[in-house]
Amino acid sequence: EQKQVINFGAGPAKLPQPVLLQAQKELLTYSDTGISVLEMSHRSSDFNNILNRTKSLLRELLNIPDNYQVMFLQGGGSGQFSGVPLNLIGLKEGRCADYLVTGTWSAKAAKEAEKYGKVNVVHPKLDSYTKIPDSSSWNLNPSASYVYYCCNETVHGVEFNFVPETNGVVLVSDMSSNFLSRPVDVSKFGLIYAGAQKNVGCAGVTVVIVREDLIGHALKECPIVLDYKVQVENNSMYNTPPCFSIYIMGLVMEWIKNSGGSAAMETLNRKKSSTIYDIINASNGFYVCPVEEACRSRMNVPFRVGKKEGDEGLEKKFLDRASKRGMISLKGHRSVGGMRASLYNAVTVEEAEALADFMKEFQKEHQ
Ligand code: PMP
Repeated sequence: EQKQVINFGAGPAKLPQPVLLQAQKELLTYSDTGISVLEMSHRSSDFNNILNRTKSLLRELLNIPDNYQVMFLQGGGSGQFSGVPLNLIGLKEGRCADYLVTGTWSAKAAKEAEKYGKVNVVHPKLDSYTKIPDSSSWNLNPSASYVYYCCNETVHGVEFNFVPETNGVVLVSDMSSNFLSRPVDVSKFGLIYAGAQKNVGCAGVTVVIVREDLIGHALKECPIVLDYKVQVENNSMYNTPPCFSIYIMGLVMEWIKNSGGSAAMETLNRKKSSTIYDIINASNGFYVCPVEEACRSRMNVPFRVGKKEGDEGLEKKFLDRASKRGMISLKGHRSVGGMRASLYNAVTVEEAEALADFMKEFQKEHQ
């Protein structure tokens, strides 16, 4: 049975219907075990198979080279704001790291890294997070241990459509909100991480993909659960892993594979986001997206209603009307206001079109 609401939430977000149905079917008894995944020992062969299957699906979907390791950790994306510097800032003497700060999440990551070394923000500070500073203006430090950026800023809707050139310095990316939404050349990165709760599952598990030569350099004060060497040696089971979240992520990866993989996701994600951006662009300023065209996110579409800085009365009405149509979680992040439509993998083209139709109608009635 199809749901009566369309969830445009920024995360936790919509899961594919077949995944929920499968989880429902297996909730009481997984396979022929007689118990639920929720009740299963993480040391059992059944759970080991779930974890290893999820890992190999991910390797297949992203074409991950053999010299990379995959971990499923706890602590969320924010855990990796600390995990990255704790494991990598000691790669070179001087403990320096370069950060691109293009929104709230990279700003938080840079602030956390300052606890463990010197952080250099490579470009002049942005007064609004609506663009990516031109790479010719970046002042990269060749002796930095790594260069860090957030591939998709979830709050502001700013997405990189290119991989930064670092002249050989290890590249690290937070892909929490655009993971598996398109193919990625993993070999260009030292490390990629992503919380699962937007594009690949539910909350509770964070994927970390790391090149092998970067493992084993953690600072001595690194908490053991964040130590990549320890977690890789223990197949992400140094301690009890988030078993059910890993299981759900496995189902989502299976669904992505059956839907045509990351290339198919990319085609659909482009289609969905351009459906909404086209409405905004054709609205004569009734809808305004503040983000520069070149870095508009395919995942999170932020916009104001009524005028450039938003007409609050009209925005409230927009949300009310949308919710009467069953379209929920369109309110923008509290730090920026306005609207935000998140269009992760599980959101269908039809659902994006329903929003576009509603936006057209709303404009007709209110301009
Ligand atoms: N990075 C990005 C890009 C995010 O969108 C978020 C959460 N919205 C985080 C990091 C933080 O993730 P968590 O809440 O799982 O710690």
